[in-house]
Amino acid sequence: MAFSDLQPRLSTVLRPTERPWIGLAVVWLVLAVGAALIAGELARRQAEGDLARQAQAGAALHAAVLRSELEKHRSLPLVLAQDPEAVALLTDPGPARTDQVDRKLERLAEQTRAAAIYLLDAKGVARAASNWRLPTSFVGEDYSFRPYFTRAMQTGDAEFFALGTVSGRPGLYLARRMADADGRVVGVAVVKVEFDALEADWRGSGEPAYVADPSGVILITSVPDWRFRTVAPMSDAQRRQVLTGQTLGHDALAPLPFRTADARPALVTAAVDGPPESWIAASADTATPGWTLHLLSPAGTAILVAVSNARAVALLAVTLLMGAVGVLLRRRQLAEAQMRAEEAARADLERRIDERTVELRAANDELNRQIDERRAAEAGREMLREELVQANKLATLGQIAAGVAHEINQPVAAIRTSAETVLAYLKRDDGEGVTRTANRIAELTARIGSITDELRAFSRKTTSRPSAVSPDEAIDGALVLLTGRLRASRIAVTRAKAPSLKVLADRVRLEQVILNLVQNAVEALDEAGVAEPRLSLSVAATGDGVEIVIADNGPGLSDEIAGALFTPFVTTKATGLGLGLVICRDIVASFGGELNTRPSDAGAVFVISLKAA
Ligand code: ADP
Repeated sequence: MAFSDLQPRLSTVLRPTERPWIGLAVVWLVLAVGAALIAGELARRQAEGDLARQAQAGAALHAAVLRSELEKHRSLPLVLAQDPEAVALLTDPGPARTDQVDRKLERLAEQTRAAAIYLLDAKGVARAASNWRLPTSFVGEDYSFRPYFTRAMQTGDAEFFALGTVSGRPGLYLARRMADADGRVVGVAVVKVEFDALEADWRGSGEPAYVADPSGVILITSVPDWRFRTVAPMSDAQRRQVLTGQTLGHDALAPLPFRTADARPALVTAAVDGPPESWIAASADTATPGWTLHLLSPAGTAILVAVSNARAVALLAVTLLMGAVGVLLRRRQLAEAQMRAEEAARADLERRIDERTVELRAANDELNRQIDERRAAEAGREMLREELVQANKLATLGQIAAGVAHEINQPVAAIRTSAETVLAYLKRDDGEGVTRTANRIAELTARIGSITDELRAFSRKTTSRPSAVSPDEAIDGALVLLTGRLRASRIAVTRAKAPSLKVLADRVRLEQVILNLVQNAVEALDEAGVAEPRLSLSVAATGDGVEIVIADNGPGLSDEIAGALFTPFVTTKATGLGLGLVICRDIVASFGGELNTRPSDAGAVFVISLKAA
């Protein structure tokens, strides 16, 4: 599967909050590996440099020690060559002299710690030796084949590193040609220097060291196996040349068992005491006899420790860095989560507000609807009331119609009679009589006009707003329509007027109320058959209003009727509807006033209380 295919799948498997952590882990891994590798490499170079410098210093020190050791021994053959006793021994040997020189050489060897000091005669036979006492004594041995002898005989001195023919021990042979006082060559003085002590010192230091001659053959070494090996592979010709005069085995002159990496030539892998280890190689030259001292300084552990430490520090640093990044990342995630939570809370709040708004709007709409309904009902009721008022008015008109007709008929009959009288006056040519009677006709006509005017006004449907109305005028209007009825019933009407007072009312409706109340009183008086029926209508100011009191001397209101007087359909009359008082109270209430009864000893008393205008 291609990586591009894998990516979307990973993004669906991982939660959004986990993705940065995976990224951080990957970055940490890459950085950690990279930093560990780089730091390790830098530390390795640094450690190798330090070790190389240390090894170089060590090598220089070893070389100095070796040089001083050699210098010390180099003077010995020189001194011996000058020694008269030694020269004498070689020119004129004798047992006593031999013994004397042997002892001298023995002492000298002890003092200088030379391995052996001996004198060879001109034929190469040892005449005296420091080891004369030992079974391995050189005395009497022939060393004419040894290169150091032949070379010294030819050139004056020679230095030759070889294994001892008797001891088999390696050492440096320092040879010096000896001559007598006449300059005749008498033999060679030889000092064999062994480096066991030096090698033991080197071995003890833990840092393998070895010395190679100019041809690369190892002579002195703290690792015995490496002796007579070479620092570099040799050709057969070189090998033959080196082997001349030597008594070395066949595996000699093999290259050292070292492995080196081309990139790091100073780093050597070699087995010294056990398994192969890493060493830093350093070398120092010694001027004579042209030897090079090599020192191996242990590198493996030191480099390993340095590299490990550097890697650990790098890992720690990267981990700390990533930890800090992780902390920042976590903080950011927490802040984002909090922001998201606040956002969600805000959204939730807004949603709830929206819901609540919708509910409130619905409730408001419902309320408006109810208000509209109520208004409509109110309007309906208002209309109904208007209709009722009008119906009551018409009913009242019906009731008073007979009285009104009678009231009109009387003047009409009088006008007819007056007209006949006018004709009689005209026949008699009585102008004054005509004028008087015509005036009378005009008065009667005016009287009829006032009744019909009142009737027309009363029957009109009015819905005007309350205005300033004179209560006395309203009573006058009502009495005009009732004059016939009152007269028929012989009711004595008394009035108490207050012409200056005005009330807040509608003229026609107030008249309607008064008409209703007077009508009720007339009916009650008629029905009771009161001997001297009386009706009193009075207008008077009260504290902050005006009272119209209508009282009769009829039977009054029984307790039963008084309790439910203003309740619809309560009536004592056979043809009554029981709505008159209800409508009257409603009309008065619409002016802001009240209609009540007042207790009385004789008859009924109704009180209309109105606001003064
Ligand atoms: P209706 O006249 O149709 O009966 P009202 O509401 O006008 O209806 O009157 C209700 C009742 O109140 C009458 O039936 C009557 O018994 C009583 N009433 C009204 N006015 C008087 C009055 N002045 N004297 C005695 N009773 C009265």
